[in-house]
Amino acid sequence: MKEDFSNYINTNVFKAISTQTSALNTESYVIGGYVRDLLLERPSKDIDVVTTGDGIELAKNVAKALNPKLKVNYFKNFGTAQFKYKGIDLEFVGARKESYNRDSRKPVVEDGTIEDDQNRRDFTINAMAISLNEHNYGALIDPFGGRNDLESQIIRTPLNPDITFDDDPLRMMRGIRFATQLGFHIEDETLTAIKRNRKRISIVSKERIVDELNKIMMSSKPSIGFILLDRTGLLELILPEISALKGVNIVNGVGHKDNFLHTLKVLDRVVEHTDNLWLRWAALLHDVAKPQTKKYIEGQGWTFHGHNYIGSKMIPRIFRRIKLPLNEKMKFVQKIVNLHMRPIVLSEEEVSDSAVRRMLFEAGDDIDDLMTLCEADITSKNETKVKQYLANFRLVRQKLKEIEEKDAVRNFQPPVKGEDIMEIFGLKPCREVGDIKNSIKEAILDGVIHNNYDEAYSYMLEKAKEMGLKPLK
Ligand code: ATP
Ligand code: MG
Repeated sequence: MKEDFSNYINTNVFKAISTQTSALNTESYVIGGYVRDLLLERPSKDIDVVTTGDGIELAKNVAKALNPKLKVNYFKNFGTAQFKYKGIDLEFVGARKESYNRDSRKPVVEDGTIEDDQNRRDFTINAMAISLNEHNYGALIDPFGGRNDLESQIIRTPLNPDITFDDDPLRMMRGIRFATQLGFHIEDETLTAIKRNRKRISIVSKERIVDELNKIMMSSKPSIGFILLDRTGLLELILPEISALKGVNIVNGVGHKDNFLHTLKVLDRVVEHTDNLWLRWAALLHDVAKPQTKKYIEGQGWTFHGHNYIGSKMIPRIFRRIKLPLNEKMKFVQKIVNLHMRPIVLSEEEVSDSAVRRMLFEAGDDIDDLMTLCEADITSKNETKVKQYLANFRLVRQKLKEIEEKDAVRNFQPPVKGEDIMEIFGLKPCREVGDIKNSIKEAILDGVIHNNYDEAYSYMLEKAKEMGLKPLK
């Protein structure tokens, strides 16, 4: 029995496509992600239309019918056309049949039928089409049981998964990404085929891989994706540093926690509190140097001395390799990774004003992000310990607020500048100027003086005197 989805596509856009399709005496279908998201009742702004006729001609006619002023972009070589209408992105393409070379993701393309076009799709849930033809408008064309798989929440390739992944290995990443975004299960045959074909990922561009990683990162539970990447062996190929976090060493019966599982827990918890992709990356990478710094010390147990600092130094190499931007976003990730132990160390001791002030000075505007990561980083199973940490964090946050109100050291600007010092004492740029400036900064951070001009000025005179310097006037 054919099901009728005409009420789902009851809009002037789809009706215009239908009318123009008839006028050209061809066929057209809405296909792929849009149909999947429609059935999942997920909002979607991209509409892909496949026609057995000329995609460019159809797009031009539809655009003209909707609004003669619409501008259509098209690529003659690919036979695709695209335009935007009321915030919706519409793409038109002729139905195609594909065949692949071993060394490239780029297929050889020829005209095909709607079945040919569905055969080249990556997953059953992405291969459904809804007819826009007048004679069966709204009929679901679902040759591979995509609708069933949507209901059973299964990711599966329409054809032999080994061929599907060998043809275009990006599909392995897409499959894991869909499983993560939708919380779906990757069917066994499909999953083992990813395992078998994992090395084919080498022909996929870094940019496409990192796009998928970022989509996994922006999902509501990225750990699903990283566990699948690990189980299929892709993680070791893409992010060996994260793969190296796996496992537990035991010395004298003392083990440390599995840092891979810990990292994923922290990542999922950070995700609950931020949409910032880069803070999410900082969470993934916060313990990245633990394998290198791991050491068992008699009487202390397992230590990871300096892992925050060494981790922050590893980040540029990782970002460069996987083609993440080498800009202020990376610097932010480095900074958070470097500082990620500060709040916890603070909360272990008596929370002193000057320690909080120093942390605020170093973190600047990123202080809230740093606190978010640190709170997520507490994954101990010992409830008393967790309670105590969280209580201390509240105290740290409270102190942060008080100190910020009092001293405004968040974006510290010295109240007495180097030029002032040079002018007052008649000095050229020299070490003494730097020393005085620095001692003023230290005094403010230690709470010896407040962050204002008058106190800094008096303090400067005092310090200068100790150094044997006299003001000119
Ligand atoms: P999203 O838009 O959320 O990334 P999507 O499934 O819509 O998901 P698109 O990249 O927009 O992904 O692609 C649209 C459709 O094109 C897919 O649903 C799928 O049918 C097909 N498709 C995209 N990429 C591939 C691929 N690498 N191999 C096979 N089919 C693909
Ligand atoms: Mg899409």
